Amino acid sequence: MKFGFDLLVFTAWVFVLILGRNRMFRDTIVERAHVYCMETLPGRIDRWARAGISDAVVDRAERVWLALFGRRNPVFQIIAVVLYFLGLAVFMTQAAPMVPNRYMGAWHWIPIIATLAVNMGTYAAACVADPGVVHAGNVAQACQVFQPDGLLYPDTPTCRTCLLAKPARSKHCAACNQCIQMMDHHCMWLNNCIGLNNARWFLGFLTSFSLVCIYGSYIFATVILELRHTRGLVGAMVRNEETGLIVPISFRTSILYLLDQNVMLAVLLVLLVILTPAIVLFTAYQVRIVSLGYTSNEEHKWLNVADAVKDGVVFVVESEGGREAVEVIEVEDQLKDLRPRRVVKDLAEINNRYHRGAWSNLMFVLFPPSAEACTRTKSTKTTHVE
Ligand SMILES: [Zn+2]
Ligand SMILES: [Zn+2]
Repeated sequence: MKFGFDLLVFTAWVFVLILGRNRMFRDTIVERAHVYCMETLPGRIDRWARAGISDAVVDRAERVWLALFGRRNPVFQIIAVVLYFLGLAVFMTQAAPMVPNRYMGAWHWIPIIATLAVNMGTYAAACVADPGVVHAGNVAQACQVFQPDGLLYPDTPTCRTCLLAKPARSKHCAACNQCIQMMDHHCMWLNNCIGLNNARWFLGFLTSFSLVCIYGSYIFATVILELRHTRGLVGAMVRNEETGLIVPISFRTSILYLLDQNVMLAVLLVLLVILTPAIVLFTAYQVRIVSLGYTSNEEHKWLNVADAVKDGVVFVVESEGGREAVEVIEVEDQLKDLRPRRVVKDLAEINNRYHRGAWSNLMFVLFPPSAEACTRTKSTKTTHVE
């Protein structure tokens, strides 16, 4: 089963690349493998190349690398679309002709086509929708959507590149060279940022893609089982090579025989085995962070806050009006700062101001309020501490 082992290693590698930086794998072998693949190894290759080839060639290669991964470009978007339609073509030619079969009825075509249509539609929408670009015309309103929480966003700074106010929860995307409201991340497969205005399409795309993969796996299983019947493998007799005896073919051998006879079905299996767990896990991760009221970008900020709590530099500070706010006060400033305060001992003591409850968070992402509506209902709440 050499092929099976190769597939396992390749799946693990893709998994490490996609999810290695995720919080759930912090300080684990998955994160270390990710850091090695993405940072340590490229650094070593760079040093070897500079020593063995020439600096000019390496510099040119690095410029190409930067243009590919550091700047907005459609290369990975085109690759994603081509791979998607290749996968679909394999499915349509290899598996679809066997639906319906004795395990699934013709009515399945309705949800199959509907899921694919939703999946393609949400992908296109997530690619072309404005993610929430901050520009001179909307910056004042964008600043009203979220108020600074005093902790992750102490105030409203000016973006050094855009030279505009940077609304709370926004981030400057180096690839797009723009500030994006409620920025989650820049997705190279969509060639777009994921932010306040298109997070719903991104979530819809991930959810429908998970359904496509799970449904595809189910259809694949029924097609393989159907083929066992149509190829006369159910109850077929074969000679055992070791004992020389004529015995009924085992279930496992019949499946391996079918895959061996039809390479394209094996290709479809490889696609499903790689994609299904990766997409389902990533979708679950995105739904989880939405339900907890933070973005991928803020996840890293919360990790820094957790470290600061461990270092004992996070305090609940009482301001003049008697209001309490959470602040980081570095050790060198603690003697100078005379405001009444108590140290935060556990991250659970701090409320995430942007968390409105799992359902409300989801509704907020699916139906983001317009900036005008936020301006009308400007909130004056501050960070509260339990
Ligand atoms: Zn900016
Ligand atoms: Zn971007």
